[in-house]
Amino acid sequence: MEKKNSDFLSAYDKESLNELASSIAEFHFPRGLINPEIIAEKNNITYSYGNYEDSFDGLIEFKNNKFHIYINIDRLGHAYTERARFTFAHELGHFFIDSHRNALVQGKSPSHCSFTGFVNKNRAERQADYFASCLLLPESKVQKDCYRRKFSFSLIQGLAKKYQTSISATALRFSAIGNHPIMVVYSKNNEIVWYWSSDDFLYWKLKNGKYKVPEDTVAGEYFNLSRKPKNTQIVFAMDWFSNVWQSHTNREFKEHCLFHNNQVLSIVWEE
Ligand SMILES: [Zn+2]
Repeated sequence: MEKKNSDFLSAYDKESLNELASSIAEFHFPRGLINPEIIAEKNNITYSYGNYEDSFDGLIEFKNNKFHIYINIDRLGHAYTERARFTFAHELGHFFIDSHRNALVQGKSPSHCSFTGFVNKNRAERQADYFASCLLLPESKVQKDCYRRKFSFSLIQGLAKKYQTSISATALRFSAIGNHPIMVVYSKNNEIVWYWSSDDFLYWKLKNGKYKVPEDTVAGEYFNLSRKPKNTQIVFAMDWFSNVWQSHTNREFKEHCLFHNNQVLSIVWEE
């Protein structure tokens, strides 16, 4: 089968991580918001929040037969920010994913520093990030919230607020389990770092290939023209995609971007 998304994680990885994280979420929190601290406590993992400057977002350590998670509030604000929650869930991933835990226990990586939030190209880091998004945004709960709701950027915003997750983690999660096909693209310095789309998203080949941001998209205009619209914009199929049928070149899509310094998160969908 042709590979649909950029080389983010295999379908097998995603499915097994979702199953693992969902069962943990369901077990500890059949109702209400997922609290990573409680999951740690129930599994005899100790944790601390500290000031570690720029050295890592989070770290899990196996020492004297015990696991300990460090969360760096210098990089993540305070203990209850979305990023601190996500980092905590990511570190739990290193505990719950068998191969990661075994590596820690066997001393292959006795302590493991992480920079979280889908910024890392390393496969183990992406697995832990994916685990975190599945844990914090459990499939059955999110699907209930989306039931019969029309897609717009505010749906992602609402979910992010309810589950206390970032827009990017929420949008990625929605692309996997939501009720409307979307594509999520993260670009930096006018280059695509990753993109990910729902299985039933209409197009999957980007206009300029996997790495170059297409110029006429909202993301492209930010990098090239410093335009920074706050609202959802209209783009056309031919702006983002290649292999567009002649009759579909002006097919309308929506693009909503979040801009942060040299980075853009684009959410793209068709109404
Ligand atoms: Zn990690």
